[in-house]
Amino acid sequence: MKVFSITAVVALFATQSVLAATTAAPCDPNTCKLPSCLCPSLTPPNGLQPKDVPQFVTITFDDSVQAELLATAKDLLNVKNPNGCAAKGSWYVSMLYTNFALVQQWYANGNEVADHTFTHVGTPSSQEIAAARAMLNQYAGVPLGKIKGFRAPFLNYTTDTLREIAKQGFQYDTSSTGVVDDCYWPYTLDNGLANDCWNNVCGSDLKLPGVWEIPMYAVNDNQGTAQLMDVYLSGSPSDVTAWSEANFERHYNGNRSPFGIYVHPTHLTNYAGLADMSSQKAAVVSFIQSLASKPDVWFVTNEQLLQWMQNPVPASQLASQPYMQCTLPNVGKEICNGLENISIASNIVSGSLLNNCNFNTANWGTCFNCPATEPTLDNPTPNNAVAESDPKFRHAVPSNCDSLWWDPIAGQCLCSNTTCAYNDTSVPLTTIVANSTTASTTGKVAEETSVKSAAATMATTLFGLTLGMGVAAAVMIL
Ligand SMILES: [Zn+2]
Repeated sequence: MKVFSITAVVALFATQSVLAATTAAPCDPNTCKLPSCLCPSLTPPNGLQPKDVPQFVTITFDDSVQAELLATAKDLLNVKNPNGCAAKGSWYVSMLYTNFALVQQWYANGNEVADHTFTHVGTPSSQEIAAARAMLNQYAGVPLGKIKGFRAPFLNYTTDTLREIAKQGFQYDTSSTGVVDDCYWPYTLDNGLANDCWNNVCGSDLKLPGVWEIPMYAVNDNQGTAQLMDVYLSGSPSDVTAWSEANFERHYNGNRSPFGIYVHPTHLTNYAGLADMSSQKAAVVSFIQSLASKPDVWFVTNEQLLQWMQNPVPASQLASQPYMQCTLPNVGKEICNGLENISIASNIVSGSLLNNCNFNTANWGTCFNCPATEPTLDNPTPNNAVAESDPKFRHAVPSNCDSLWWDPIAGQCLCSNTTCAYNDTSVPLTTIVANSTTASTTGKVAEETSVKSAAATMATTLFGLTLGMGVAAAVMIL
């Protein structure tokens, strides 16, 4: 019995290739050791017993960041961790229709911002990956070293994609699928990929020392069919809740490998003229709240998960780990750092310090300079609209200050002690963008999955996505 996942479906349609199952390369835990190396394993790291480790729940969001989508994400994350801090999530951001002021707000509130390419193409060029990283840094102020994760659009990763993210300095990929027997804890790719062994990546010569793979953990529905993303589209809310709970219990009462809830927020957001998703959203929110009521359940970003993986501690010690704290910076003055007063509900970015950048197809707020022309794949960060001598000029986040503490108007870092000091040692943008090839993509898979507010765009894009994901989200057992 071979298991084909969403990526297999895409790959089949895209290439018509014959798929040959492979097996993962062996990994020796005696030589592959933390913190830089970890073999794929169903059991918790460092010999910890499942009952002693946290049950991590990762809630991830994909595609563009827009006001109504961010509001949906916040509704899902409206629970607390055992240490009293708010649940955190990861967002795999594509650039089209993204409002960068909201990305900065998401980041400033302790959530993770990660790369999902510029135009959301199935087989991204190096430039597709680098351009998104550049824009998230330039317009959302996310330090390059904090953009650690990558998820392939349509989960359609390849050996080339994985090699590319390693080259660009990403810490991890999370595009592969884990289905019960290969719901491994996150592991490094020192010995290659161990998930999706139907494809030619697993068992290939791909070896990326120190780069982590965080499998996406599928859940089985009533028919035993594995579901991965947007599972609430695969049945009635009560049915989906029932089998989601059963799958969670398998993790929680089993080896406690992380549990994932993978969301395209467009599907849980109501738009005029489209299906009312209120009951589906209420069911997901209720499910998340039920998980939050259990002992040792922690809602973390994938970045936080990896911090724990590199130095695993018992659940009883998690609350005191530095990466689990949630104190907001006390900068002593109102600066444009994502924590200013922004009204989400009204869809209006009201922060008085924000710039608004308006182009034909893209409008967004930013604490930084607007570009003079609309960003493109080849030129994702065009020249600034204002000169450095202009009083309206904004200063980019430097490599020695986190944007939480950076006043882009004064060009000043307001961090003055070691607890907030930051030094970015990531691969510089110029190195990558300058060396990037801009191989065009063939567009065999569907277009951008984000939804713009224009009704016509929404109708075609959202329905296309719903239809597509309805097929693709199912992991078909053949
Ligand atoms: Zn996507």
